[in-house]
Amino acid sequence: MNSPAQIPVIILSGFLGSGKTTLLNRLLNHAPRSAVVINEFGAVPVDQQLLRQHNVPLSTLSGGCLCCQVHGALTPLLKNLRMAWQSQAQKPFDRVLIETSGIANPEPVLDTLLRERWLSSRYRLDGVIVTVSAASGADVLNRFPEALAQIAWADTLIITHTDLAEDQQIDNLIALLNRLAPAASKIQAAHGDINPATLLAFPRRNCYRLKTNTPIPEHGFGSTTLQLDHPVSWPRLKTALESLLDRHATQLLRLKGVVYTTEHDAPVCVQGSAGRLYPPTLLPSRTSDDGRSRLVFITDGEVKGLTEAVKSGLATPHLI
Ligand SMILES: [Zn+2]
Repeated sequence: MNSPAQIPVIILSGFLGSGKTTLLNRLLNHAPRSAVVINEFGAVPVDQQLLRQHNVPLSTLSGGCLCCQVHGALTPLLKNLRMAWQSQAQKPFDRVLIETSGIANPEPVLDTLLRERWLSSRYRLDGVIVTVSAASGADVLNRFPEALAQIAWADTLIITHTDLAEDQQIDNLIALLNRLAPAASKIQAAHGDINPATLLAFPRRNCYRLKTNTPIPEHGFGSTTLQLDHPVSWPRLKTALESLLDRHATQLLRLKGVVYTTEHDAPVCVQGSAGRLYPPTLLPSRTSDDGRSRLVFITDGEVKGLTEAVKSGLATPHLI
């Protein structure tokens, strides 16, 4: 029997709010024949909504991080994906893109792909792409060992949010990244604006020096979900979220969600990180939309009262 063809796998990593999903969107526009595995730390998956315009095989592992809590689910998921691929004469995809949670250390994922024998003969690791925000990257690297681990395993580093940073800040970050990951390629991108062809064709590392026993890390992050059953006033929600991001600029690492507003027919994608609420974007409507807004907050440690603060902001008339 011939040895099975190996399906290329690209791992997409990067800290909370560094622009992984924006980059993934960009990659899928260019390479639609990709199967996508998304891992989200929050209990309610949001990223799959942000990728809804792509008609690709999409699997989501949510409610835990891929390097620890939901790590055990990766092998069966990749086995099932491979079996589905193998059973079809017309192959449904040409590669697999795995987006880890923003707090994941890529090493246990690499360990699974390279050391699990059934998987390693059927998948080929093509590289680890890691996003780093030019605006908050240096601070994040200073505070979180998870971010350092991501940089350490990167083959390619994408420096995002260059439009939100000063030139000096970008230069300092590049100098830091050159020290931490001298061999990784570094590419600057504003708004995920990068040539996907170049990215997918980047030379990969031949050897990943995995530890003998990959330690399962313990993260100190918390996540809270807010669900709202009825459409909300966008100006009130915006004010409430901005005030929350401002008040907890250090601890509120990431907020994201899909909300239904009284002002728009289509669902609105809301994202924020590092004290900043990003401009909202309208998502395509779908018949399966249930009209319930869901917001996920990821924090450094536990932060109490976040969802209550948003609810009370929504109940307060908006003052201009
Ligand atoms: Zn983890």
